[in-house]
Amino acid sequence: MNHDFDRLRCPNCKRLYKMNDQVFLDNLNTVIHQKCYNPNTIYTVKDKGTYKEIIERNPFFSDLTPQSST
Ligand SMILES: [Zn+2]
Repeated sequence: MNHDFDRLRCPNCKRLYKMNDQVFLDNLNTVIHQKCYNPNTIYTVKDKGTYKEIIERNPFFSDLTPQSST
């Protein structure tokens, strides 16, 4: 099992992300559901959007983006 697959799960609810889930990206590059985000344990939110948008905008997630071999 590739350890990188851990990043596909929400650290709060442990569910796998779906491409259209609304998520935040914090300054530790942790992705978390917007509905799971706890303001009391907040890190700086540096990006937000759907999971698909986040991984497409941030190059370090490129290995998680489905590659279309053209
Ligand atoms: Zn969650």
